[in-house]
Amino acid sequence: MDTQKGVHSAEHLSIKLLKAVLLCACTLGILLSLVQVFLDAHLSSADIDRKARELLAMIHDPASKAADRLDTDMGQEVLNGLLEMKSVQVAAIRLDDASNLAKVERPIFASRYRLLSDYIFDSIRIYRQPLEPGKEHFGELILSIDTAYEGKAFIQRSVVVVFAGIIRAIAMALLMYLICSTLLTRPMNRLIRHLSSIDPEAPGQQQLPVPEGNENNELGLWVRTANKLLTSINYHQSLRQKAEARIMRLSQYDYLTRLPNRRTLQNQINTFIQKATNKHENIAILCLGLDDFKSLNAQVNFNAAEHILVKVSDRLRNCIGNKAYIGRLGEDQFAIIQSKIEQPYEAAEMAQSLIRQLDRPFEINNEQLTISATVGITLFPDDGEDVDTLLQQAEFAMIMAKSRSHNRYQFYVATIDTEIRQRKRLEMDLHQALENRELSLAFQPQFNYQKGELVGAEALLRWNHPEKGVISPDMFIPMAEHSLDIIPIGNWVLENACQQLNKWHLDGHQNLRLAVNLSAIQLQDQNIADRIAFLLNKYQIPPETLELEVTETSIIDDLEASKVQLQNMKDIGVTLALDDFGTGYSSLGYLKQFPFDKIKIDKSFVEDLPDNRENCGIVEAIVQIGKSFGLKVLAEGVETVEQETYLAKKGCQEGQGYYYGKPLSAHDFIGLISSQGALPGNTQVEGGDYETLGDNND
Ligand code: C2E
Ligand code: CA
Ligand code: CA
Repeated sequence: MDTQKGVHSAEHLSIKLLKAVLLCACTLGILLSLVQVFLDAHLSSADIDRKARELLAMIHDPASKAADRLDTDMGQEVLNGLLEMKSVQVAAIRLDDASNLAKVERPIFASRYRLLSDYIFDSIRIYRQPLEPGKEHFGELILSIDTAYEGKAFIQRSVVVVFAGIIRAIAMALLMYLICSTLLTRPMNRLIRHLSSIDPEAPGQQQLPVPEGNENNELGLWVRTANKLLTSINYHQSLRQKAEARIMRLSQYDYLTRLPNRRTLQNQINTFIQKATNKHENIAILCLGLDDFKSLNAQVNFNAAEHILVKVSDRLRNCIGNKAYIGRLGEDQFAIIQSKIEQPYEAAEMAQSLIRQLDRPFEINNEQLTISATVGITLFPDDGEDVDTLLQQAEFAMIMAKSRSHNRYQFYVATIDTEIRQRKRLEMDLHQALENRELSLAFQPQFNYQKGELVGAEALLRWNHPEKGVISPDMFIPMAEHSLDIIPIGNWVLENACQQLNKWHLDGHQNLRLAVNLSAIQLQDQNIADRIAFLLNKYQIPPETLELEVTETSIIDDLEASKVQLQNMKDIGVTLALDDFGTGYSSLGYLKQFPFDKIKIDKSFVEDLPDNRENCGIVEAIVQIGKSFGLKVLAEGVETVEQETYLAKKGCQEGQGYYYGKPLSAHDFIGLISSQGALPGNTQVEGGDYETLGDNND
């Protein structure tokens, strides 16, 4: 019977309704019947009286005559006629002397309704009428009426009335119930069934049907309103779901490239590791870092750099397809997980194809930009068994590969660990190098083509490690920059260079010029210009004989700040040279804005001159740029007479390289200057007994 889940049958609205209607109808029916019965009783009582009086009136005259004549027979006859009426119990003609002239009598009616009817009408009603036809008085007429007859009829009528009332009430109640259940309960039950079949996840997809025939009443309105509500719930639910999905995406994916982020990658690697452990499979994790992305970031604007990252990630993703899983580790680093590999060469192939993806230049703001990448690879389970180790080692391998050369890949090998540890050790040693007087300067001559003589030198830092011997600045300068030891070391270089230059000037080489390299970190040092001014003053050096070399990459980190710093130096009067020109993102824009006096063509463009067409073009272009900006041009890495001839012919003013001399000790350098007549070709070998300038270690 229970059609709707959750509603007990006794609680059904229709049953409740039925009960209420029944109760009301019955009560009302009984009440109305009782009123009717009461009225009936009243009328019946009056009727008894009326009939009795009619009877008395009817026999008044004959009874008066009989009393007048004292005719008993006549009196008896008159009274006998009354007995025809069943309700007449006693009738008598009483004379004034209290004797009865005539009397008729019948026994009381033995009715089973007596008890009730006696209560309502009294059992016997007595009526008297004086017998006075004229002015005389003959006695009285007495009539006693038995009410049981009228009472019986009244009770029977009342029973019918009450029953009929109750039956009518029940019938009405049932009818009401039927109507209600047809019009309300059944359509509602149907709606409830529909409602319960609605998917709570998508409440708007199924609409409630308007019950037939109820389109325009409250039920129809209810259904339409409910449908509107469902649609609205659905809409808001979908908004919420979208927002949730967005939050989920943001927390798991990189906002820019839409690749999985570092945390998602870590989880994914974990999953891969678990699977691979069960099935004894190998996984390769490739860490891909873009080369020199920082410089690129500084060169193009922020939006363009982000755009490039998106394009790079698109290419990588396309290259990988469904062969591997890719995510973004950080700024310019991506990680690629290759599961189920059989041989390490598969990872190498993947690395190679990823690197190749970046061969084609990227076009940003109508400019072609070349980006390369370096990849470090670790293998599970050979190189490590947990996510962090594997990722860290892949990153190490990548960093090591970058430090060797860009645009290549490198497997993680145990030696990298050692290498990293050795690096750390070396970094600590470097920290002590100044104090331990292990640093020195070498001087590489610079030749002027117009004057045909050596005009100066570049001071190059040397570190003589007690165990490892001479270590290349290419190796230890980045370390010193990383640890910020470059600040004291750079200051030491400046001080010693100035001291040396002063010595040479005093020894009679007044025009000699000395170039000193400034690191990016030194360029950010707010005190650098003051310090240079102080040193120039301390060693009485004409400012223009001190040349400061900075690279493009070091000024590009913060163009505005660099401009201010360089201008401050320029104001002191020193010469400024732009080192390694052509290797960065040589943009003519900043050459104009910066107060350079000289550009140094990087040695990579001087190589193979004049045979290498491409390099010839580059060198020619740089010389032209120098001319149009009014800058001197010096070529680095000049090793042969052919190079020199070509450079001089093209209008390059100065040269530096092994052809004129390797970096020499101060002593050897000044020896070379003194024997200028024997030049060129009279080059000496680096590593001769150049003196160590350790006087200013503090
Ligand atoms: P750089 O400033 O470009 O210095 C020129 C480098 O080219 C020197 O290497 C020099 O030995 C080398 N070189 C010169 N002529 C030739 C040549 O004809 N052929 C070849 N193949 N190489 C030649 P070095 O001394 O190893 O210095 C490497 C780099 O270390 C320098 O590059 C410079 O960036 C940095 N560096 C050296 N000393 C200092 C310093 O005192 N402070 C800073 N911040 N950096 C320094
Ligand atoms: Ca230099
Ligand atoms: Ca250089």
